Amino acid sequence: MKKETFVTKEQLDAIVKEYPTPFHLYDEKGIRANAQAVKDAFAWNKGYKEYFAVKATPNPFLIKILHEYGCGCDCSSMAELVLSDACDIRGEDIMFSSNDTPAEEFVKAEELGAIINLDDFTHIEFLEQTLGHIPETISLRYNPGGVYEISNGIMDNPGDAKYGLTKAQLFQGYRILKEKGAKRFGLHSFLVSNTVTNDYYPALARTLFNLVVEIKQELGIEISFINLSGGVGIAYKPDQTPNDIAAIGAGVHQVYDEILVPAGLDNVAIYTEMGRFMMGPYGCLVTKAIHEKHTYKEYIGVDACAANLMRPAMYGAYHHITVMGKEDEPCEHMYDIVGALCENNDKFAIDRMLPKIDKGDLLVIHDTGAHGFAMGYNYNGRLWSSEILLQEDGTPKLIRRAETIADYFATFDCFDEFKGKLQ
Ligand SMILES: *Cc1c(COP(=O)(O)O)cnc(C)c1O
Repeated sequence: MKKETFVTKEQLDAIVKEYPTPFHLYDEKGIRANAQAVKDAFAWNKGYKEYFAVKATPNPFLIKILHEYGCGCDCSSMAELVLSDACDIRGEDIMFSSNDTPAEEFVKAEELGAIINLDDFTHIEFLEQTLGHIPETISLRYNPGGVYEISNGIMDNPGDAKYGLTKAQLFQGYRILKEKGAKRFGLHSFLVSNTVTNDYYPALARTLFNLVVEIKQELGIEISFINLSGGVGIAYKPDQTPNDIAAIGAGVHQVYDEILVPAGLDNVAIYTEMGRFMMGPYGCLVTKAIHEKHTYKEYIGVDACAANLMRPAMYGAYHHITVMGKEDEPCEHMYDIVGALCENNDKFAIDRMLPKIDKGDLLVIHDTGAHGFAMGYNYNGRLWSSEILLQEDGTPKLIRRAETIADYFATFDCFDEFKGKLQ
């Protein structure tokens, strides 16, 4: 089955003349249309905000585009906080949803005025000791344990996840936070990754809305915002039906009217922290076939490797591949598409049926816009690629230059014996 690319062969041929492969390419038009669709889907909720999960695509140019649609930043590390600050995104436009958090990161989050979302019961005391007080606005991350099931079956196993507080800890936590002076409370939960169903958010909302009603009844605390976090997935495979964000928003609305409104909780803001859904389909990895190898299998060697896109090697994840200019040719050749790492799992595809690939062909590896570039690494001294934005007018804009050998060795340059030698 086919999957359309957002870039044409003509555009790509022009781009590679200016910028060498490999690189991640992003689709400005697609990013904007999707951000608008997300905004529209939750427009029924007055306080709605999407906090883009910065870890998915930590590029300030892209984050600033999303900010035009009202998106804030979901950060979980010092660098992500610094990045958000550099994009002029501060205050309650930052959600700090970290875990195993070092003290200095809580300090930075507080300095930027971020909403702090605590991952653990013991972090209440840790935060108070670190800051000298408890912030007025504070959120807690809930983990219901067990397995998480919705109508179409078991989705994941939160009981095995390192994140969040138990239900008992959550209730005790709100009680303590209130005693210590907190005034505005949030509830957060992230139970399943990459869900390709319109039912996940509404099901999660039902769980959290019922919990919020219970919290009001038992503790007299009115939760101000409920953060449905991430987990809304994308259709990596061409035969999957993509999520419909309008249907998802409407599904959450319905549960809101059913549970929160009758409980007198009709002012609760809904927050999301989507990463994959905001960017995944609007990025691709562009790479060139540089070798073909015929041994016990047929291999195509490309100039990208798992250091540019780790998901296939790490999770066996499927990423669709289009051979540019051969979209309509029959897929009669079975290939492993491989990179240069000295690691046998450095394969973008295994036993994939594709058109005949010739050296010099450009391959588009789809859906790398989230958790793609971001999960890169430097094994074998492979360098980080550039990132390029395909602008709405069809022209490319470099939004991150490629790493150089000098960048890679910069951490030795402070030593006299290597100063200036490793460039
Ligand atoms: C990774 C992450 C997200 C984003 O998840 P996606 O599946 O990319 O939507 C949101 N919130 C937190 C706390 C995360 O760790």
